[in-house]
Amino acid sequence: MQIRVLGCHGADCLVDGTERSVRQESCGFLIDNSVLLDGGTIGTRLTLAEQRRIRFVFLSHLHFDHIKGLPLLADNLAEWFIEPVTVAATEPVLQGLRDHVFNGTVYPNFFELPNRENPILRAHVLQPGKSVVLGHLEIIPVAVNHTVPTVGYVVKDDEAALLYSGDTYETEEIWHLGRTTPNLKAAFIESSFPDELGKLAQTSKHLTPSLFLKEFQKLRRPNLPVYAYHMKPPYQAQIKEEISRLGIERVEFLEEGQIIKL
Ligand SMILES: [Zn+2]
Ligand SMILES: [Zn+2]
Repeated sequence: MQIRVLGCHGADCLVDGTERSVRQESCGFLIDNSVLLDGGTIGTRLTLAEQRRIRFVFLSHLHFDHIKGLPLLADNLAEWFIEPVTVAATEPVLQGLRDHVFNGTVYPNFFELPNRENPILRAHVLQPGKSVVLGHLEIIPVAVNHTVPTVGYVVKDDEAALLYSGDTYETEEIWHLGRTTPNLKAAFIESSFPDELGKLAQTSKHLTPSLFLKEFQKLRRPNLPVYAYHMKPPYQAQIKEEISRLGIERVEFLEEGQIIKL
């Protein structure tokens, strides 16, 4: 399984780099060139040819930083459209997309365009806890603990599995599934705010570095490669410093453009 990081932050931001500004973008991960895990960043990182290869988009929840690339993906595909792109999400997320995004006011309803029989986007309803096979991947959505209905995912192919926490505060079920997944090769776990903003993390239902450690330990796999992501750009440096001090064996920080092979 190959995961290409299109965006892995909790917002979009330009930050000073050594040579020029570095662009941080909201969450979007391209798996094996054809499956998108969250749609926060798509068209700003992928060529048109790459966008046309996308067959499935899995959404964790409806928050803007996880869906904002989707309307423009649909628009970009309209001219070249052959078969629908499947948008897989739980019912509240799909309903939210219809009500608040593809509603004919904010954007055209690409779930019914160019016609209802063969639309550009096709909805696939996911049930938390119920595994689905779409394309070459098995995907298990698991409800996590955020301010709106949200799932994390365990994504599997024949050789490897990835755990993706989604936006979450303290939770249990996904760690239980991770513990019992034999080929688990990596976990992407969110960490949005530094420890001093623990109160904000609690109300917005996100993790801080100390909670990141607590949740990671629930996997009971201390050697597992773990990648922190969804850092809010203003706090990135502080979050990295705090996580680095936790003594986790194989911890890294996701970056835009990174390719991970499992
Ligand atoms: Zn988010
Ligand atoms: Zn969120």
